[in-house]
Amino acid sequence: MEARPVLWIVIPCYNEEKVLPMTAPMFLEEICSLRDQGKISDSSRVLFVNDGSRDRTWQIIQDLSKQDVHYIGISQSRNRGHQNAVLAGLMEAKDRCDITISIDCDGQDDIHAMDQMVDAYLEGSEVVYGVRSKRTTDTWFKRFTAESFYKLMNTLGAEVIFNHADYRLVSSLVLQHFADYEEVNIFLRGLFPLVGFKSTRVYYERAERLAGESHYPLKKMLALAFNGITSLSVKPLSIVTGVGIFFSLAGLAAAVWAIVEAIRGQSVAGWASTVCLICIIGGIQLISTGIIGQYVGKTYLESKRRPRYIISERTWEESKRHWLEEKDPS
Ligand code: UDP
Ligand code: MG
Repeated sequence: MEARPVLWIVIPCYNEEKVLPMTAPMFLEEICSLRDQGKISDSSRVLFVNDGSRDRTWQIIQDLSKQDVHYIGISQSRNRGHQNAVLAGLMEAKDRCDITISIDCDGQDDIHAMDQMVDAYLEGSEVVYGVRSKRTTDTWFKRFTAESFYKLMNTLGAEVIFNHADYRLVSSLVLQHFADYEEVNIFLRGLFPLVGFKSTRVYYERAERLAGESHYPLKKMLALAFNGITSLSVKPLSIVTGVGIFFSLAGLAAAVWAIVEAIRGQSVAGWASTVCLICIIGGIQLISTGIIGQYVGKTYLESKRRPRYIISERTWEESKRHWLEEKDPS
């Protein structure tokens, strides 16, 4: 009989003391239910990644790990943000399991969609994207900004799957190759489509946060969008080049026109329009320099090759990790 796959659920947690005690048992229940259906091994785990929380989150994770062997946790040395927390968890998992599912810890993403994800994996998909079918519980503003985000990203050349966030099943095979993408500024949902392999989508309804508050206000979302675009695409550079060429040609045409008018002896009227043009062109130049500067800055940051995450604590001892490496033979 073929061995059952070991699943690790990877859950980033930042200041989640309110919601974690509610959702942790739901993740465990899902693992047990999948195990009872004979789809995954009992060596499967729920891995919490504490992202430098300032509240009792890490304490709660440690307590959970004592309650049930399926709960384990790692702690980052400081807050590094959602993307790096997920990355830390995935890298921790990649050599110790067959499949990972990353999901937020606030209960917004339907945990039961994991059933379909695992089924899709068993049918041969290496990556399964969780896609939100509706966002009825989000506010109009959140929905509008979030959906514009996906559209803008795609127009600017960063291919992302519409309405897919970071709820995703990824096999360890894909993670082995993903580990070769060594950039420091990561945008996970844009990187996995680049790695390739057979993928599919699973649709689910997005619910409200069970407790606590969102860590993604508009400002952070814009930063994430900008990081995504500049990480995945250099299209903005060609756009500013195009705009530059257009305005240079327009300027040249205007100059020709001014000379012709001067020869015909007609005084050139319209200071206002001249000043407007100077402002517009000056503005465009500054924006263009800014965009180029962002890429140069990013290259600078990447060139330092600083570590992408630092794990300061684990709920298990590295020297006693044999149990993690044994895959279920049944
Ligand atoms: N998160 C994190 N580090 C951060 C911010 C958020 O690990 O610096 C986690 C958070 O605990 C949650 C997930 O990322 O599990 C998504 O955050 P949130 O629910 O606040 O975002 P939203 O769903 O509102 O976009
Ligand atoms: Mg959330």
